[in-house]
Amino acid sequence: MSAVPVDHGDPLEAFGRETAGCTRCRLAQGRTQVVFGAGNPHADLMFVGEAPGFHEDKQGLPFVGQAGKLLEKLLAGIGLSRQDVYIANVLKCRPPGNRDPAPDEIEACESHLFRQIELIEPVVVATLGNFATKLLSGRPLGITRVHGQEQQTTIGSRSVLLYPLYHPAAALYTPAMLKVLESDFARLPGLLGAAEPAPLEVVAEPEPAPAEQLNLF
Ligand code: URA
Repeated sequence: MSAVPVDHGDPLEAFGRETAGCTRCRLAQGRTQVVFGAGNPHADLMFVGEAPGFHEDKQGLPFVGQAGKLLEKLLAGIGLSRQDVYIANVLKCRPPGNRDPAPDEIEACESHLFRQIELIEPVVVATLGNFATKLLSGRPLGITRVHGQEQQTTIGSRSVLLYPLYHPAAALYTPAMLKVLESDFARLPGLLGAAEPAPLEVVAEPEPAPAEQLNLF
């Protein structure tokens, strides 16, 4: 008999368990736990933020602090809740003092995110802020240039609609940015609808006019 345990559960959950012991970068030393991601494992809409902060590191869940409250409010504004979407981050572990992710940390962690996206199979991936946007678009353009501009892109083996948004943490204290974030957010339902495969349209053939009508005039 094989001693290797066979996992018959959800593949995303199994992958989460696999990453829980990750030691690919220095952030493993300072973390309380890996913050893998949370939400609907089959969501059409996925959000990708930057990295866990203090509260996320303690609770093991993404976006549970002030930025998370704003994200929930924005979601409610388009009729969605956290349970309808999937939320993850570029980095799965908290950088000390909430500093920016370092390039080698992003490189070490990126395959976790790519695999997550492959397993969730979202239709739209909304990137929150610069780090997620640059990583997933593969372009160096900052969020101020590209927010609100969707682009079809390939992530791993999948084609997704990438939709860059301002990071809620940045919008919290900048009213003008919050306005822009709200109006970019309002386009999400339309993008989700448009990105879905269009139903086959059956065009009815016009009935041929009866012969006697053809000569009416
Ligand atoms: N909380 C997260 O989980 N990610 C962020 O990017 C910010 C706050």
